Amino acid sequence: MTKKIQTYVALVGGGPACSTAAIQLIRSGIEASIVTEKIGGTIRNANLVENLVGFPTGISGEDYVKLMEEQLEYSGIPMVRDRVESISRVNERYVILTEESEILSDYLIIGTGSKPCKLHIKGEDEAFDMSKLYYEIYNAKVESKGKEIIVIGSGDVAYDYSLNLSKIAKKITIVQRTEETKSLPILQRRVEEEKKINIVVNKMPYEIFIEEEKVILATRTDKEVSEIQSDLIIVAIGREPNIEFLSETLKDEYENPKDESNLYFIGDVKKGNFRQVSVAMGDGMNVAMEIVKKLSRKEDYDGAPRQVW
Ligand SMILES: Cc1cc2nc3c(=O)[nH]c(=O)nc-3n(C[C@H](O)[C@H](O)[C@H](O)COP(=O)(O)OP(=O)(O)OC[C@H]3O[C@@H](n4cnc5c(N)ncnc54)[C@H](O)[C@@H]3O)c2cc1C
Repeated sequence: MTKKIQTYVALVGGGPACSTAAIQLIRSGIEASIVTEKIGGTIRNANLVENLVGFPTGISGEDYVKLMEEQLEYSGIPMVRDRVESISRVNERYVILTEESEILSDYLIIGTGSKPCKLHIKGEDEAFDMSKLYYEIYNAKVESKGKEIIVIGSGDVAYDYSLNLSKIAKKITIVQRTEETKSLPILQRRVEEEKKINIVVNKMPYEIFIEEEKVILATRTDKEVSEIQSDLIIVAIGREPNIEFLSETLKDEYENPKDESNLYFIGDVKKGNFRQVSVAMGDGMNVAMEIVKKLSRKEDYDGAPRQVW
């Protein structure tokens, strides 16, 4: 049976953006609830987070997520841990549906981050279904021990994944479409210094197939076709906003925000290429303070906590 829940502010997402907004709302006495599939978000994949003030020698993504989980638990924010299937607006209220719950809210904050782009080549889905291809590494790490891995991509994420996996894998081959890398110079230098990592350039992936236990990446250029063999493939060729669960009206509002709306998009879901934890947190704090300000102008709001559970 579907569990019905009402909350004043619903936050969809459990990454740095929504966690920051939820903590600030609760501190301000506004009733808020998080609905999320997982706590922590994308940063769980990071090898070493070095641009967050407060961690002088950096922190691994996994350790950072443990701290976030601890802080959310300590804050006592009500949480629905489930995957959101749809979100719509009915009679000025937001309706969030998960497999087991229906959550109604007056305000809605969406911080569902980004999802990895696919290659869209032959054999990709089959390799994914057979756990021979992954798009994020936190669930590929166990499989990677002592293995030969291909990482497709040339940006920060591909280089960060390669450095992370080099601690446990036997060999990593980064496959790039061009000679140019878009990765930060510091990551490029570390990749160059890591003996287990080798980079091949000017290779355009066009097919993936499995032969016995091995996964083969077929690539081509204008002049030649070649194959690279490995145990696993990681695809890191970019990310796109995670908004497929929105109704058409709300998708339209995502594209064309309205000043007076009670719907907010924060963090990576809205930030294009400005995907950083501190940017997502700043967004979360900003929106929480905006909602508090908006409520303080309402005649019927007395500043008391909104407890409607
Ligand atoms: C390999 C890698 C390394 C990185 N390194 C750094 C770094 O060093 N420094 C830095 O600042 N940033 C780094 N980033 C970027 C950073 O991870 C993001 O900018 C940040 O996590 C964005 O936070 P967010 O809250 O907007 O989204 P996310 O962290 O992506 O959180 C999204 C949340 O929404 C939830 N969600 C999504 N869809 C649904 C659904 N349908 N139903 C329910 N819940 C859903 C997810 O479970 C998750 O909790 C890195 C990213 C990657 C991939």
